[in-house]
Amino acid sequence: KLVVLGSVNADHILSVPRFPHPGETLKGQDYQVVFGGKGANQAVAAGRSGADVSFIACVGDDDLGQRMRTQFTFDGIDTQAVMSVPGMSTGVAMIWVADSGENCIGIAAGANAALTVDRVEPHLALIADAQMLLMQLETPLAAVEAAARHAKAHGTLVVLNPAPAATLPVSLLKLVDVITPNETEAEALTGVAVNTELDAQRAADQLHAYGIKVVLITLGARGVWLSENGVGELIPGFKVKAVDTTAAGDTFNGALVTRWLEGKPIREAIRFAHAAAAISVTRAGAQPSVPDRQEVDAFLQQ
Ligand code: ADP
Repeated sequence: KLVVLGSVNADHILSVPRFPHPGETLKGQDYQVVFGGKGANQAVAAGRSGADVSFIACVGDDDLGQRMRTQFTFDGIDTQAVMSVPGMSTGVAMIWVADSGENCIGIAAGANAALTVDRVEPHLALIADAQMLLMQLETPLAAVEAAARHAKAHGTLVVLNPAPAATLPVSLLKLVDVITPNETEAEALTGVAVNTELDAQRAADQLHAYGIKVVLITLGARGVWLSENGVGELIPGFKVKAVDTTAAGDTFNGALVTRWLEGKPIREAIRFAHAAAAISVTRAGAQPSVPDRQEVDAFLQQ
């Protein structure tokens, strides 16, 4: 059993020829609402990969929150701990994409800010009963740390995807068993700019020093640097034609823990996660790009 704790966002995307000036109104096209949020993306990746997954999260008491809950259930996620917070709106990102390919984004945490220690506490039993807890950093840090502490006390493996990039208190890092930063996040945590394999191992060694047993630094198209107790190696990803890397890391994390929980060795779980993430970068958007189990299995058999 897996528990994912984290954020939920609705991405409102509008294509515009260029960004409007202050006071200007500009015609756009292709308006879309795409479901995202790191927590939700990772829960969806796990659910579609076939995991027995519960999601601890907050949505608003609005139409979007309702629609997302329905979608989560459809994706095989247990939503008993997805809370609708009265008087709050679901987290949003307002994204303008210009013809140049650049984007301008405004975000509001909305109900994600309500995922505080007191709202997580009623769901601690779920964490104690699970084999793994997967979290990120888009919801209040104190609750992430409280959940990690409860997991640790009950033998639940703590997997942290430390995104978006941040420095973290030692008290939290000491509770983490497995960490999965990308290069930017690894640098934020360790101060080591990750360019070469040697850099990756130096960053990993710093993270091992907190007692983190497995460090996985994702390197985009290159794959991941896997370091277990100080011994590292590059595990290359799959070559595909990338069109949109949104949620690549989230798909990787959700698929990784799913395959790992099936009792497979870490290297096999990474291969599965590479395949899922590779498929996701060939498609646009966050959750719409996340593949299901059949697709990943078929990809791996080619
Ligand atoms: P994030 O999206 O969090 O920045 P990365 O860019 O490191 O994370 O990507 C995470 C994983 O997604 C990689 O380890 C790899 O499996 C996959 N991936 C990302 N970009 C590509 C790509 N261009 N081609 C194939 N796989 C990719």
